[in-house]
Amino acid sequence: MHLVRERLLKGTSLKSTIIGVIPNTRDPEHDTDDLPTLHKIGTAGIAVQVVGSNWPKPHYTLLITGLCRFSVSSLLKERPFVLAEVKQLDQLERYTTPQRDATATDDGELGELSEKFYQAAVQLLGMLDMSVPVVAKFRRLLDSLPRETLPDVVASMIRTSNKEKLQVLDALSLEERFKKALPMLTRQIEGLKLLQKTRKTSPDNEKRVLVRKGTVFPGRQFNLDEEDEDDDGDDTAALERKVHGANMPEAALKICLKELKRLKKMPQSMPEYALTRNYLDLMVELPWSKSTKDCLDIRAARTLLDNDHYAMNKLKRRVLEYLAVRQLKTSLKGPILCFVGPPGVGKTSVGRSIARTLGREFHRIALGGVCDQSDIRGHRRTYVGSMPGRIINGLKTVGVNNPVFLLDEVDKLGKSLQGDPAAALLEVLDPEQNHGFTDHYLNVAFDLSQVLFIATANTTATIPPALLDRMEVLEVPGYTQEEKVEIAHRHLIPNQLEQHGLTPQQLHIPQSTTPDIISRYTREAGVRSLERKIGAICRAVAVKVAEGHTLTKTETLTPENSKQHGDKAAPPELPIVIDHIALKDILGPPVFEMEVSERLTLPGVALGLAWTPLGGEIMFVEASRMEGEGQLTLTGQLGDVMKESAHLAISWLRANAKTYQLTNMVGGSDPLEGTDIHLHFPAGAVTKDGPSAGVTIVTCLASLFSGRLVRSDVAMTGEITLRGLVLPVGGIKDKVLAAHRAGVKRVILPKRNEKDLEELPANVRANLDFITATNLDEVLNASFDGGFPGVSSTRAHPQLTSKL
Ligand code: ADP
Repeated sequence: MHLVRERLLKGTSLKSTIIGVIPNTRDPEHDTDDLPTLHKIGTAGIAVQVVGSNWPKPHYTLLITGLCRFSVSSLLKERPFVLAEVKQLDQLERYTTPQRDATATDDGELGELSEKFYQAAVQLLGMLDMSVPVVAKFRRLLDSLPRETLPDVVASMIRTSNKEKLQVLDALSLEERFKKALPMLTRQIEGLKLLQKTRKTSPDNEKRVLVRKGTVFPGRQFNLDEEDEDDDGDDTAALERKVHGANMPEAALKICLKELKRLKKMPQSMPEYALTRNYLDLMVELPWSKSTKDCLDIRAARTLLDNDHYAMNKLKRRVLEYLAVRQLKTSLKGPILCFVGPPGVGKTSVGRSIARTLGREFHRIALGGVCDQSDIRGHRRTYVGSMPGRIINGLKTVGVNNPVFLLDEVDKLGKSLQGDPAAALLEVLDPEQNHGFTDHYLNVAFDLSQVLFIATANTTATIPPALLDRMEVLEVPGYTQEEKVEIAHRHLIPNQLEQHGLTPQQLHIPQSTTPDIISRYTREAGVRSLERKIGAICRAVAVKVAEGHTLTKTETLTPENSKQHGDKAAPPELPIVIDHIALKDILGPPVFEMEVSERLTLPGVALGLAWTPLGGEIMFVEASRMEGEGQLTLTGQLGDVMKESAHLAISWLRANAKTYQLTNMVGGSDPLEGTDIHLHFPAGAVTKDGPSAGVTIVTCLASLFSGRLVRSDVAMTGEITLRGLVLPVGGIKDKVLAAHRAGVKRVILPKRNEKDLEELPANVRANLDFITATNLDEVLNASFDGGFPGVSSTRAHPQLTSKL
């Protein structure tokens, strides 16, 4: 490796470097040195080609033309590569300028020997199949090569042991060389004869190719090998047939045929052979013109979507519209649907249903963390280990050119020096361009226009704008408790039972237990961990059922042994009903308690609502004060916007302290005087940012300064201004659902968000009391029992009408 790197790859031309090649005579049993003892004779050669590869481990493959023998006189150094003083043993001129006449007239034993050897070689060739290019090449070489080189050439090609090869190498006089090599050649001929005799009995094999493909001198060795049948010739022929049968467009076919031609000329051991071969294999496998037939029946599609999914009506309606338009106009170049919502709300599963209603193949491409455009578009084939991108790979997997591709998590696309994957994706999704999508690896256009793309994301905020522009965003909000119960009983429980090999006769989860699983063991917008919990129950029950089985099989229950084994021995009565006690037994103590009311028992705590890509969440804000110099401490991983909200809140409260009779620790009217304030947002590991905690911070501090408790069943959201106005915020639907999940009764939100309430399920709206506020006064009044009266209720709040 050192030699190649430092000498061969550094020089301007490979031809200028002659290297010595010495056979490895190391005996693995005895020599433990990492440098094998060097054989005293080797071959000098010119490296004509160096190919490097990294796989499976770093290595180089050299193509070397041998020149002459040399012997090692003395070793000069061993590292980094072996350097030795050598003596040339063969005369080069004799080889390079054939002096046929001289040899021919060279009568005596040598002439005879060489003639004999030549004849034997001719005989050997006669027995081989001349249609094999390698054999033909050998035949040509045989006549044009100087006779003296024949022993070397032939010995390297016929089947000999290493030891025999060394004997030929070590034979310095020409005469000896002929003498050593001739018996090997004759032996090979005899062997072949024998083989052909036996083959005669099975006429099919008569014309069997008996030569392994490889380069013939000058170059490296190849073996004549009787047993190791090589059907490479058939193989490329089969590949060629496949190329013609793959129904690919003109341009692709042309490239394939060109590559095929190159492949035929390449020795199999060359690394490039495998590369070209892989490429061609992929090309013939791609579904250039294979497609499934769409079978779209809107009515059936509706039933199917309804059967697969509970709720999500808005989404289902839009999907049906989309499908209907497709049916009317088959070549729809419509927008790409993008489902946006928290995890586990069924985005992937709807995508799968769409494929099913259309009768198309489905393939999911996970984009999370993809930050290299070659992930999408492939590597150029010049790279070692290059591969096609995920799009082409997906097409190969599904085997048709009109599948449904679900681009999962487009919001998690990364960016790096290797180019922007979003740009590559744009090309894929653009109906104007994607009929000529060119993967770098394929290097020829593949028509993607028949592929139906659907994308999913948790949030639109991080989807690259250009990409977002191509897509129609369909929001998939989280589920309410009631919806989850329905989903559990209609879909999740039956599915899980089936997956665990259980039947409803063995396991029953009553309607009264599911709400408990949902509220005490999961806290999520979707239903994924609910599904996992149900899975856990199924596993536990499966054990019990299996135990019952083995017992009834192996022992008959007599009164005695049932007593002996205690209750355990009795097979469980079926079905096993999961009640509250069983639930606690299987899932352990509840993970989430209804903590809201418990935590709001001190002044200085308020409940806010936050939006995260994983759905809405309730968020506590805690405040405490101590003697100090009016400092504000904020903890809980806050972003800048959040910190600003805190400062705004304090400023507003200071400005209005008199009105609300707020006091500092010593009873003064400036809440900050002689007082330090600490605001904390628990769940410190999660970074929080955004303006919507404004009203919560104000309420929390107002509670702290006034010593009054915030109502235990109220949660709120809204941005504030310095003048005490409440501005609208985003994510209302998810936030309200979170409040509902947490058992909150009253939600305070900005007046201008009132319209968002229409999107909420009716039962949520019925269960909650919504207070819409335009200013902080209204917020405070709604947050405390009995209101939060200021000194003068006539205090005029400036009603701003002008817009700046
Ligand atoms: P996402 O892709 O949104 O993260 P999945 O599609 O993987 O979520 O859904 C998670 C699981 O929840 C799946 O087993 C799916 O069948 C189930 N599921 C989600 N929503 C519903 C629904 N409305 N009706 C029935 N099953 C649902």
